[in-house]
Amino acid sequence: MRRGRKKKAWEMRRENEMRRDGKMSEKMPERKRETSRDGARYLRHRMLAQVGEDGQKKLEESRVLIVGAGGLGSPAALYLAAAGVGTIGLADFDRVDVSNLQRQILYTELDVGRKKTEAAAARLRERNGAVRVLTYEDGLTEENAREIIGKYDVVIDACDNFPTRYRISDVCMELGKPDVYGAICEFMGQVTVFAPGGPCLRCLSPEDPAAAPDARAFGVLGAVPGVIGSLQAVEAMKWILGTGGSLKGRMLFLDLLSMRADEIEIPVNPRCSRHGTGNS
Ligand SMILES: [Zn+2]
Repeated sequence: MRRGRKKKAWEMRRENEMRRDGKMSEKMPERKRETSRDGARYLRHRMLAQVGEDGQKKLEESRVLIVGAGGLGSPAALYLAAAGVGTIGLADFDRVDVSNLQRQILYTELDVGRKKTEAAAARLRERNGAVRVLTYEDGLTEENAREIIGKYDVVIDACDNFPTRYRISDVCMELGKPDVYGAICEFMGQVTVFAPGGPCLRCLSPEDPAAAPDARAFGVLGAVPGVIGSLQAVEAMKWILGTGGSLKGRMLFLDLLSMRADEIEIPVNPRCSRHGTGNS
């Protein structure tokens, strides 16, 4: 009996999500779209000189792609949705595993076994019904990368493997899009922005590091990707708003065990294979 009731609740939840996703009845009433002018929702943004009414409108008209809906992508996506970023793209081929729950705060126990894109999209729509969430359940592949990235204003690299990181950086350089890079290991994190006029990932490290650690092969304190993913959301929003000093050309290192921060400058590497071709 208990089992039957539980399944029913799950099915109802799925049905509601499918309606929201437009996969079921089209007769469902459109949810009220709350814009910046509709009330108090974005009051704290509008109070900021660097955001204001115009900045909030910029956020609402912007499109951000998040590659990797895991430890970094979770806080980045949640904050961007809460901020009212108009379109959020999520690229991830994975399914939610119970071992993800320790740090991937987009997901709950009920999501274990579900596609990450599907569960994450549902969570973001709950957070802000005005945000359009687009999902790419094959992840960002060699075949689809140009087409997908071409549709966005900013890309957040929240993935866990170097082939995808190089793919993001290469296509962003080619198309002139900012790539907000974040990485974590154990208690440490790094953030930078690869963007037109600045260096790219290949300027920093020309080739895919063969001995790069597999993301599943090291431990990580659950809140560490929360810090780094949140910084990526901040950099993406500042880029959209055109405000503040970005991490373009420098990489911020955070050691959250000793609680110390450091940064290095990343110059454009004249021998970089991607520079001099479309990035000035
Ligand atoms: Zn380069």
